[in-house]
Amino acid sequence: MFRNILVRYDEIALKKRNRGWFEDILLNNIRSSIGALGTAKKFRGRMEIELSDESALDEVIGRLKFIPGISGFSPAVRLPLDAEWDEIVAHAVELAKTAADEGLRVLKVICSRPNKAYPGNSIDIQKRLAGAVLSTLDGVFTVSMKDYNFGLEIEIDSNGIYLFSKRYCGIRGLPVGCSGEYLSLLSGGIDSPVASYLTMCRGAKVNYLSFYSPPYTGEETMRKLEDLARQLKKFQGVSTKLFIAPFVDIQLLIRARCFEGYRTILFRRMMFRIAERIAVERGYSALITGEALSQVASQTIENLTCINDAVKTMPVIRPLITSDKNDTIAIAERIGTFPISIRNAPDSCTAFLPKSPIIKGKLERVLAEEKKLEPEIGDLLDSAIKKLKIIDI
Ligand code: ATP
Ligand code: MG
Repeated sequence: MFRNILVRYDEIALKKRNRGWFEDILLNNIRSSIGALGTAKKFRGRMEIELSDESALDEVIGRLKFIPGISGFSPAVRLPLDAEWDEIVAHAVELAKTAADEGLRVLKVICSRPNKAYPGNSIDIQKRLAGAVLSTLDGVFTVSMKDYNFGLEIEIDSNGIYLFSKRYCGIRGLPVGCSGEYLSLLSGGIDSPVASYLTMCRGAKVNYLSFYSPPYTGEETMRKLEDLARQLKKFQGVSTKLFIAPFVDIQLLIRARCFEGYRTILFRRMMFRIAERIAVERGYSALITGEALSQVASQTIENLTCINDAVKTMPVIRPLITSDKNDTIAIAERIGTFPISIRNAPDSCTAFLPKSPIIKGKLERVLAEEKKLEPEIGDLLDSAIKKLKIIDI
């Protein structure tokens, strides 16, 4: 029945001067997501997809649900602006029959008319269309303005007249690509995939960096990281990179030379240094982590201060900094990363966890501990970059 999908966006619609630029990015993301299943175009305030075949509807609906920037969409029948009233009624009746078959029999007709050049006003159109549907399908529907279960909508746009009854929610936010390209420190845990997703929804294209420490981490850990990156890519549409940096030599040096309580802080600083170097080389403009204030010892404000000091040239985005873990888990479940994150596979830091980590680290002490790693640490950092494994996802 549906050859078209009417796509809505809200936050982009609030943009003033560069609205067209945001719209074009979203349009391109939609195009690359649906591929040959349809064509997409924009017109004032909306986008429209024309399916190459009606049978592609479910697949395209599935894809649109994943695209940041879309606030909602509706499979719709599109009629030309000069369509005869009888033709509009005929299609409305078809939609109504389908609803009745699904047991939905309390009707409300809703008209919006962004195209003010179209004759008549919304209230009259609503009344006329409701009257026509009720008299054609005599006795099938009752009408209620408040307690309806079948909202039959008619939207008159610059591009045509759209009839629809279902509204699907999108994930909102901004289209991927409008905020630049970042590097997310992806552990196998629950938080960093969620942090990556949230940043993506603000328009960032996200790439991933993980650290591995064989023989302490093995194949299972690698598979988990790849699966996480692949799941997250669904929201991004465009391709992404997963960088895997060897970390065990750095960890062994830190374990051998430094005070145990500072170990995790020192690991994180080295991770940040490697991340920043990759980001600078590739032109990425920020790092992302899943850190949340005071969630664990390494995330007290004092320790975050010590860790953050290692990054010199770009912001570290921490979308979860004030989040409650239960809320984070709820997002992880919704975006499908949770079942992957809880798979049992060691993280590169698990094997080296200190017995009693420092809670309130001091930067001077951190710097003194780091001195103990010289001169070898420079070569080890270089070598981690040189041996970087890059997986295209
Ligand atoms: P997560 O659930 O993301 O693992 P967490 O609450 O367990 O977070 P930590 O293990 O302290 O917290 O890690 C804090 C952040 O540091 C992570 O969210 C991630 O961004 C980064 N990180 C930690 N370990 C790694 C790793 N092995 N590879 C890449 N990034 C890491
Ligand atoms: Mg973790």
